[in-house]
Amino acid sequence: MKAPAFSYARPRQLAEVLSLLAQHGDEARLLAGGQTLLATLNMRLSEPALLIDMQAVPELKGLSVANGCLRIGALVTHSEIEASALVAQHAPLLSTAAPHIAHRAIRNLGTFGGSIAYGDPAAEWPACLLALDGVVIARSLHGERRIAAQDFFTGLYSTALAADEVIVACEIPVATSAHRFAFNELARRHGDYAVVGLAAAARLQSGVFDQVRLAWLGVGSMPLRASATEQVLQGQPLSAATMERASAALRTELQPEADLTHSAAAKLHLAGVLLKRALLSLEAQPAAPKARAA
Ligand SMILES: Cc1cc2nc3c(=O)[nH]c(=O)nc-3n(C[C@H](O)[C@H](O)[C@H](O)COP(=O)(O)OP(=O)(O)OC[C@H]3O[C@@H](n4cnc5c(N)ncnc54)[C@H](O)[C@@H]3O)c2cc1C
Repeated sequence: MKAPAFSYARPRQLAEVLSLLAQHGDEARLLAGGQTLLATLNMRLSEPALLIDMQAVPELKGLSVANGCLRIGALVTHSEIEASALVAQHAPLLSTAAPHIAHRAIRNLGTFGGSIAYGDPAAEWPACLLALDGVVIARSLHGERRIAAQDFFTGLYSTALAADEVIVACEIPVATSAHRFAFNELARRHGDYAVVGLAAAARLQSGVFDQVRLAWLGVGSMPLRASATEQVLQGQPLSAATMERASAALRTELQPEADLTHSAAAKLHLAGVLLKRALLSLEAQPAAPKARAA
């Protein structure tokens, strides 16, 4: 099928994007990498009157570090994140997760902001943003809002973003030498959306877990933190007993939804496998090189 007819605008400034969006409301769609939107147009799941192509807007591009945060412009592609030395140093969880996203051709075009705005429960970036206590920066003609990742994802493909808002960037606190990260997912084939995935972050001091974040993808209608399991790990060294208590907490806490290929029970089992792998990986990692002051 072909996409329905639509008008097309390619503004060169963010202010122009914001006023077009305010003017056309629900009749308009923002176009970033197009890796999701163009497919939905071709399948006629979406029939906007106007596409606002943001690719020529410089304010939405680039990676930078300032005030203790890594800032990822909304139009930064998955491949740019994968290749970035700045990301590897300050948010290594993203470097580890990036190769799991689709295939190279899609990673070359798909954007961080597009993935966060779309809010796919099986996507990698939303779970990583949750695990890293990230913040979404949204702009409209009325000003700027900073929305914690924890409050941003509100349901199946739904977010706290208002209809007249554009994600301009996301910010992530830079990793310190005490931080450890692990990302892993189980998919039917490499590049497929995950059946279940886990983005994990923790501080490890003298072998004891602190500030554990376990953010899951593919288990529900949106990316989810397993807070009760995190609490079980808080202040504990990794021992067989800790692992067992954490696994038991996860089995109680996580209530995966079945999908077309996996039952809820199979997903819960896979999540348990990923939890064990993540905890072993977090504990085994050498101290990260001390992050440079930004
Ligand atoms: C075959 C295939 C396999 C894929 N596999 C995976 C995978 O394994 N993991 C994964 O995470 N993703 C996967 N994707 C999706 C891909 O990562 C997309 O790039 C991503 O979901 C959307 O980013 P985009 O830049 O292409 O956004 P677009 O398609 O341009 O936009 C997506 C939606 O977000 C809105 N939007 C975009 N940018 C903004 C913004 N800055 N502010 C507000 N709203 C905005 C658009 O209006 C649209 O509604 C796959 C895609 C394909 C085609």
